[in-house]
Amino acid sequence: MRGHGPGVAPAARAAGWPAAWRTALEASTDEGRTIDVHGHLWPEELVEVLRRRRSAPRLAGWVLHLDGEAPLRVNPDDHDLGVRGSLETDSRGLCLLSLSAPLGIESLPTEEGAPLLEAWHDGVARLPEPFAAWASVACAHPDLLQLKHHLQTHFVGLQVPATWLATPSLLETLAPTLAVCEAESRPVFVHPGPAGLQEPGRLPPWWPSVVAYTTQLQAAWWAWQEVGRSFLPDLRICFAAGAGLAPAHHERLVARGGAVGRIDPGVFVETSSYGRQAIDALTRVLGVDGIVLGSDRPYGRPVDAEGLGLGRAAARSIQSTNPRRLLLGGTP
Ligand SMILES: [Zn+2]
Repeated sequence: MRGHGPGVAPAARAAGWPAAWRTALEASTDEGRTIDVHGHLWPEELVEVLRRRRSAPRLAGWVLHLDGEAPLRVNPDDHDLGVRGSLETDSRGLCLLSLSAPLGIESLPTEEGAPLLEAWHDGVARLPEPFAAWASVACAHPDLLQLKHHLQTHFVGLQVPATWLATPSLLETLAPTLAVCEAESRPVFVHPGPAGLQEPGRLPPWWPSVVAYTTQLQAAWWAWQEVGRSFLPDLRICFAAGAGLAPAHHERLVARGGAVGRIDPGVFVETSSYGRQAIDALTRVLGVDGIVLGSDRPYGRPVDAEGLGLGRAAARSIQSTNPRRLLLGGTP
């Protein structure tokens, strides 16, 4: 691991970003200010539109109905701005919120999904520090001009469901959308999409997270490894939840005739739902520089980076330096 800075002047790189969180980002120096790249909070606008719907995804009061998953009772406190803000223990930190991609909003028919996407962007763009957010686009006919506008105004980057890049050919189809981020020097966050389970009522509640989501993330990782850089040479990309621990399968890839390239400084995985064992395995494959802090709050909580046994410098890289490099660019 080399140094603690991203190799660029952060103030210069952040100059076009809205003041509300640009300030926090610029202040995120080597003093170790925390950036959590993965959280969810539904702004009031989104809750209202979800409650008006008569088909999934929809909210009945605080019960969430999705296709392919059992009804889920949501804790209102999880989406209460005051409660959530009080959980952010680093008063100078930053928490990046993303649309809950398992809801499937981005994959709805364009006209049906538009009010939900509008509610997401309108609602989350006005949230105060420590919150900032990832933009989203519709799967069919994504509005790339609007995405560019979002990246130039309020949003740190783009979140896409892992299912959209489940194969090399799907990734090729998605490449023009991701290229907007590449051109704006903004990162992409790959998050699990809808679980799409058969007989969800006969499965334990952890099944989507442990089986469906990890499988999606692994497929996305391999699609990226196979063709990602050929389409998007400069894109910075982060895979949620350790990319379903796909990097730990690199040995198997080699054993089956595949090839592992050099460590790519523009590719990151975040830590949500994993601890000492899995993060240790990830660092052995990707190095510390490829690991960023993600909590998936309210579904998880941030890992204690200093408790990982990797040392204080590594902990600071994971929770501060590396996320900053994901957002701003630069070299490890
Ligand atoms: Zn999440």
